Amino acid sequence: MIKKAALSFDKDLFKRSVVYNVKTLYRKSMEEATPQQIFQAVSYAIKDAIVDKWMTTQEEYEKQDPKMVYYLSMEFLMGRALGNNIINLQAHEPVKEALEELGVDINAIEDQEPDAALGNGGLGRLAACFLDSLATLGYPAYGCGIRYRYGMFKQQIRDGYQIEVPDNWLENGNPFELRRPEYAKEVKFGGYVNVYVDENGRSNFKQEGYQSVNAIPYDLPIVGYGNGIVNTLRIWDAQPVECFRLESFDKGDYQKAVEQENLAKNIVEVLYPNDNHYAGKELRLKQQYFFISASVQAAVAKYMRKHEDIRRFHEKVTFQLNDTHPTVAIAELMRILMDEYYLTWDEAWAVTTKTCAYTNHTIMSEALEKWPIELFSRLLPRVYQIVEEINRRFVKQIEQIYPGNHEKIRKMAIIYDGQVKMAHLAIASGYSVNGVARLHTEILKKQELRDFYEMMPNKFSNKTNGITQRRFLLHGNPLLADWITFHIGSDWITDLTRLTKLKVYADDEKAQQEFMNIKYKNKIRLAEYILEHNGIEVDPRSIFDVQVKRLHEYKRQLLNILHIMHLYNQLKEHPEMPFYPRTFIFGAKAAAGYRNAKLTIKLINAVGEAINNDASICGKIKVVFIEDYKVSNAEIIFAASDVSEQISTASKEASGTGNMKFMLNGAITLGTMDGANVEIVEEVGEENAVIFGLSSDEVIRYENFGGYDPMEIFNNNSDVRKVLMQLINGTYSKNDPDLFRPLYNSLLNTLSTSKADTYFILKDFESYAEAQKKVEAAYRDEKGWARSAILNVACSGKFSSDRTIEEYVKDIWHLDKVVLPLKK
Ligand SMILES: *Cc1c(COP(=O)(O)O)cnc(C)c1O
Repeated sequence: MIKKAALSFDKDLFKRSVVYNVKTLYRKSMEEATPQQIFQAVSYAIKDAIVDKWMTTQEEYEKQDPKMVYYLSMEFLMGRALGNNIINLQAHEPVKEALEELGVDINAIEDQEPDAALGNGGLGRLAACFLDSLATLGYPAYGCGIRYRYGMFKQQIRDGYQIEVPDNWLENGNPFELRRPEYAKEVKFGGYVNVYVDENGRSNFKQEGYQSVNAIPYDLPIVGYGNGIVNTLRIWDAQPVECFRLESFDKGDYQKAVEQENLAKNIVEVLYPNDNHYAGKELRLKQQYFFISASVQAAVAKYMRKHEDIRRFHEKVTFQLNDTHPTVAIAELMRILMDEYYLTWDEAWAVTTKTCAYTNHTIMSEALEKWPIELFSRLLPRVYQIVEEINRRFVKQIEQIYPGNHEKIRKMAIIYDGQVKMAHLAIASGYSVNGVARLHTEILKKQELRDFYEMMPNKFSNKTNGITQRRFLLHGNPLLADWITFHIGSDWITDLTRLTKLKVYADDEKAQQEFMNIKYKNKIRLAEYILEHNGIEVDPRSIFDVQVKRLHEYKRQLLNILHIMHLYNQLKEHPEMPFYPRTFIFGAKAAAGYRNAKLTIKLINAVGEAINNDASICGKIKVVFIEDYKVSNAEIIFAASDVSEQISTASKEASGTGNMKFMLNGAITLGTMDGANVEIVEEVGEENAVIFGLSSDEVIRYENFGGYDPMEIFNNNSDVRKVLMQLINGTYSKNDPDLFRPLYNSLLNTLSTSKADTYFILKDFESYAEAQKKVEAAYRDEKGWARSAILNVACSGKFSSDRTIEEYVKDIWHLDKVVLPLKK
């Protein structure tokens, strides 16, 4: 069956276009061009195929004037664009053929593209998946973010340590981006606020003595799958407002010009590489206000091009705040409505509180954004006045509901104790607050945000995260995608719930064999990647047991590696014990200043070094740390995984989305009852996952009683004792026995009063080791494993970001689908 859109893709035109681009861009023939040059030429040819659809879509939005969502996010972890664009144009087959005819391998060309890594991890990738789903479902949407000159750092491993290398992703230009200086916006920082009373007796607030930067938008096309829709991701670059005119400067002007130039240079220089951690850096607040002010100004300007009455703004625009990072949008919108459109406070408030909606991504206190008043008011003097007034009115409201209850004010005020609390601002001023998995939302309502929930229960809802199957199955795992389509047709590409039709194949032996054969081929592909990038040989017949995600103590990579140390101890003591060969695969970046996280990377590599080179265990265990975990190699890793390690301390992982990508590719979850794992197990059935560890209720109960005593476990469990002693006796650090002592101390600190093992690693160790035994036993049952793996795929339909987006649309945004007119 040939797809309609595939027919509409002009293969010969594309071929000519590639050859022409190579010639005009580089004055070369195809034979002379480098792979990077061919990548550029191919990308421009694909962009040509996108641009008409992009214009048509935007013209249609202009004509139909639908309500739009602006997804405001500090992070968009997009990965590579070329392969995804080809797939969503439904042009993969003709493009692959055309390139073959030109003597070029499509995969080698895709490999030339640097990842657009404008994000840290799950939060940024969620934004990217949402854009894909919005376009595919035909919803009018803008992504708004920052065009960081340097994205997430590249990770190198030297001597087992992480080295951070700058990610100069724009080095060769970005063929898909469109610079649009005609839509530049000015963003002002600092100075002071003057009040002028005009002839009508109205107070006009004016920011003066400020420094400003020009925000220049760059637009990236977001191609919907097979529907002709192309939405826009708008990322903002910063430019100085004026260039030097040296002669005409007096000293003060000169100083100011230099400062403004530096402000522009610094502001978009680099993505902060912290995941789930607030560092309170001034430049970070500048980044936030920079892209928010530009985006809100642009949204208002766009609205006013077609509408008269700004008081109806919320009927056409909604802002979704991806965590608290964009929360300053609330005050910025108030400012524009009052100071530039002369709305009264009440009018502006009515609009703002119907425009802004907030997504909470974490309950961990170290991640909550709280800006010191001094910093906030100095940088954003007018915005701060508005936040103060929002706070004043909100506190008054609390007092009315809870008269005399100062405790409520202390816990709920937006400004308290010298700090501006961004989550409180977002909740008080938005029309919606959502968590990202059922368990997470319940914890928010019962614990962290309980007071807010009690005061405004109707604002709260759950929107369990999702992922796009177009990237993480159709593009990342073409063998499995083809197998699925062969059996149940291709509808799953835009309706993932169709995968339930695969259930009938779970017990079909031929299907099981085909399925496991595909997994085996994907394991060979990953083994080749590992050999090429790590120089380690791994056996694709071994169990691929994988933990890839940001390195964070709550995610408990330390539990995983301690257990590997334990397994190795057992194998050394009992060389003949039954043991199914296992390849433990890690991938994780640590924030540059996160000591224990970086030390965990070193430990993983040190343990790997020892085990991988110990001939006495006959290669039964291999430990691989994949350098530079990112979206492009993630696609290869998920496709090749047997076991999905989702072992966070229960209650700490808001949702997780890596867990969903593994499931979609037929890996079996080894996890705690945390985040979306709970819903994964609910979908696939307990018998097709391996669950262990404390429940979130148990963890929270311990925490409320000041933790637990890890010494008890140390004293009573000799396996645990042995691996802990190996952390401090030089087993994995001959030349420096104290190297891993900080990790030991984090688990067992008996000296100081600081709490030990706050992530319950030792508490869950035994349960984890038992669960790992179950994994091995399950894998030995080949048919049983294949059955479970197929059922995981078959039951993963809920976890499409298409489902998530439909829920946001129905419950929060209230958008209509745009239908494109039929082409003549
Ligand atoms: C999905 C994804 C994540 C999030 O993984 P979690 O396991 O949910 O933390 C992080 N990084 C990349 C590159 C991803 O693709």
